[in-house]
Amino acid sequence: MRLGDLEFLVLTDGTLRLDGGAMFGVIPKPMWEKKARADERNRIVLAMNCLLIRAAGKTIVVETGAGDKWDAKRRDIYAFEGSPRLPEQLARQGVKLEDVDIVINTHLHFDHCGWDTKIVGDKMRPTFPNAKYVVQKKDFEHAKNPTERDRASFMADNYVPVAEAKQWELLEGERQIVPGVTVIPAPGHTDAMQCVKLEGGGKTAIFLADLVPTTAHLPLPWIMGFDLYPLTTLENKKKMLPQIEKHGWLALFAHDVSTRAAYLHSRDGQYEVEPVKID
Ligand SMILES: [Zn+2]
Repeated sequence: MRLGDLEFLVLTDGTLRLDGGAMFGVIPKPMWEKKARADERNRIVLAMNCLLIRAAGKTIVVETGAGDKWDAKRRDIYAFEGSPRLPEQLARQGVKLEDVDIVINTHLHFDHCGWDTKIVGDKMRPTFPNAKYVVQKKDFEHAKNPTERDRASFMADNYVPVAEAKQWELLEGERQIVPGVTVIPAPGHTDAMQCVKLEGGGKTAIFLADLVPTTAHLPLPWIMGFDLYPLTTLENKKKMLPQIEKHGWLALFAHDVSTRAAYLHSRDGQYEVEPVKID
């Protein structure tokens, strides 16, 4: 899809399964089950959507999925599926790993930064050798020292090797990454999770990351149990969603299996989605 001079595509690193209850927080199962069917282990299927952006002469990747550094136990727990994975999808778009100039992580949970690194011989190395990687500083600091409650969401091998290679640029607050691509902190899910706003030719798209991970999470109280600060998520949803609707921005969903992009229309206090196909 084109926004003026900026061009972007939604790619995906496949799917994973997470506990349905944890994905919908205080919403009772009889309600969320109508939106997302649970398997025999109460897990629902979630996509790991990523963006490939070409803007201001730079090649930018937003989110890198779950990667492939998983042992058998966790492969069973999370049931990763889908191919081709992100590096192969980039190759199909004519993008070599060394061509990527910037990697934007919205936060450092394992399903958002898995391909930040890969195994080379017996070492973990940045997957994108020439890229600057960006994330909010607060999220990076937290990822190095998570709490007992959210420890399972982090895998140090995804971001420590990037630090060792001195490829991180840690941000504090809103920042224009290149003209047309801006990161906007929207905390709640984590201390400093950021959304990514794309602008060009008078049009805007916004990657919502885990602020609104799927279209099922559009109603205000549908907030993940994983969120560290759910009331902050609520405040940020109340700020962001009316803005998206009012200005006709395209909303991009990080974890929705079927609707990767949609316009929002409010009817009787609820958001209806108008899905948009992006190839
Ligand atoms: Zn997350």
